[in-house]
Amino acid sequence: MEAVMVYDNYTTNEKIIHGWGFSCLLDGHILFDAGEDGEKLLENLDSLNIDLEDISKIVISHDHWDHQGGLWALLEKRPGITVYSCPGFTQEFKDKVKDLNGNLIELENLTEISTGIYSTGEVIGTYDGDPISEQILLCNTEKGMSVVTGCAHPGIISVVDKAIDLFPDKSLNTLMGGFHLSKRSEKEVEDVYGKLKAYGFKNYGGTHCTGDFAKQFNTFEIAAGSRIEL
Ligand SMILES: [Zn+2]
Ligand SMILES: [Zn+2]
Repeated sequence: MEAVMVYDNYTTNEKIIHGWGFSCLLDGHILFDAGEDGEKLLENLDSLNIDLEDISKIVISHDHWDHQGGLWALLEKRPGITVYSCPGFTQEFKDKVKDLNGNLIELENLTEISTGIYSTGEVIGTYDGDPISEQILLCNTEKGMSVVTGCAHPGIISVVDKAIDLFPDKSLNTLMGGFHLSKRSEKEVEDVYGKLKAYGFKNYGGTHCTGDFAKQFNTFEIAAGSRIEL
């Protein structure tokens, strides 16, 4: 299963625009998050030869501007498309999806979105002292389970624990996405990676809000334009 990075703080080349946020296309048709800006998102989809009609469903990890900002431009081009959120997203977000004729589905529990691609359902983290609702995608292939996170506000270790709870028999393949470690000290980041290594992931690809120090632990290049085999 291929993951194509559509939107990220970093880019692989000058033809793919970078911007604050995260978006990734899984298995050629599931769009996970939409970045900050719709125009940039649409331009990158075009540069990556991804036809808007190829996108079957959109999953938004959490209701932050750098993950849902690009959604509105996409909904105008694809009215009726299914958008997965969680019950704890803001009413403003839910109303806007419905106003733009999106088919909003709120996931509370583990749900198979497409063959081998699961949403964890709602996981509550904290942001600026307030609770924030987030869902994480789990991709199960013959290589094992890969965990794809938007921001990991519940904490990257808690996110991985949740994934293992849901699929205790799966071996772990790749951990990728936003790990939200950019504001943590070097010592804290080293501790987190010590714990992550003990879980036995084969590959690490932290990006977006992961932070430059933590990115040095990556085992592959990840930025807008990257293609990753899960
Ligand atoms: Zn966030
Ligand atoms: Zn973010």
